[in-house]
Amino acid sequence: MRILPLLLSLSLFFSAAWRPNVSLPRYSKAELTGRFVPRQHPHFVAIPPRYASRSGMYLRKEVWRAYQEMLQAARQAGHTLTIVSATRNWRYQAGIWNRKWQSYGPPENTRARRILRYSSMPGTSRHHWGTEVDLNALNNEYFESGAGRQLYRWLQAHAAQYGFYQPYTPFHRFRDQGYREEKWHWSYYPIAQQLERAYLHLVDYEDLRGFRGSSYARSLRVINNYVRSVEAPPPGPDSQ
Ligand SMILES: [Zn+2]
Repeated sequence: MRILPLLLSLSLFFSAAWRPNVSLPRYSKAELTGRFVPRQHPHFVAIPPRYASRSGMYLRKEVWRAYQEMLQAARQAGHTLTIVSATRNWRYQAGIWNRKWQSYGPPENTRARRILRYSSMPGTSRHHWGTEVDLNALNNEYFESGAGRQLYRWLQAHAAQYGFYQPYTPFHRFRDQGYREEKWHWSYYPIAQQLERAYLHLVDYEDLRGFRGSSYARSLRVINNYVRSVEAPPPGPDSQ
């Protein structure tokens, strides 16, 4: 008779393993808007300084694993990759935003829009999610000649094999607003897509407060026009 509980627990174990969707992580509003400390978060890992332009950068553990595989393949093809920015929490993003708010001159009603060409309002950055990396140089010109161009071509051809894609492409018919093109910004879409869905479901303009010019979040519809306005990720293996 003792075999019955054993069989029961085995079947529970296997049914959970065979249906991975059952254990999908759930994301809190705090996590989605960057209100946490990556160093203290159990799902994050520090990037060893030799892979990055400075120490103290973090990624989600799965993202870091996938990135290392991509890095190895890129190296074998002769390319050099350095992470220049990874996870940025709310506090860090607020520092960037408030500095730019102060340094960009009047008029105030266009200031938020001008900052938003390349920088996110605190609480709206994909860098909060731990799934994003900025690589090598924060300007498109770097990726348009020499080694930068070679690397960019390699990333366009191979990054998707490792789960990465470029969310901020040039504007086109289906992405006609939001941030400008960023050839340096790559997103680990298997997880970023889940976070994006959760974000659009949970976060509202009420949550975007506590920084300079935050009232423009609603009037510029930053959730719709910036968070949502990204390139579609590559099709999954099922649809290829
Ligand atoms: Zn970025």
